[in-house]
Amino acid sequence: MKHYKEIVVQEVSVISCDKCGEQAKQGDYSFSEFISVHHSCGYESIHGDGNKLNIDLCQKCFATICGESLIITEPENWDNFFQQKDTVSDDFMSERENIIEKKGAASGILSNIKADKCDDDESRQSSINKEN
Ligand SMILES: [Zn+2]
Repeated sequence: MKHYKEIVVQEVSVISCDKCGEQAKQGDYSFSEFISVHHSCGYESIHGDGNKLNIDLCQKCFATICGESLIITEPENWDNFFQQKDTVSDDFMSERENIIEKKGAASGILSNIKADKCDDDESRQSSINKEN
């Protein structure tokens, strides 16, 4: 038995841009477009060995800072993405139906099997041999 204790979990409810101050609440579309960088500095870092860097930027400031260096790649094909989801969903359901059919067949087979009560391997083996 597991015994649980209550713990306090914190989540980000509002995020603000460290450059321009723009804010977004969780659930806003712009909330998920914020870019956060968290980095632990290593040996020879100009920011200091062992120091940590943190910055949260809105998408506009991030794009401005990165300028021409930002590499943006479009999704290969959104249509394929959604078609795959539908296909997966259909396969999932047919797979479930197959499993349910097999379980039904297995329970029918098992209901016809009568096993001898046996306490040792020798009598268990002889009951298997009787079946063949
Ligand atoms: Zn900003």
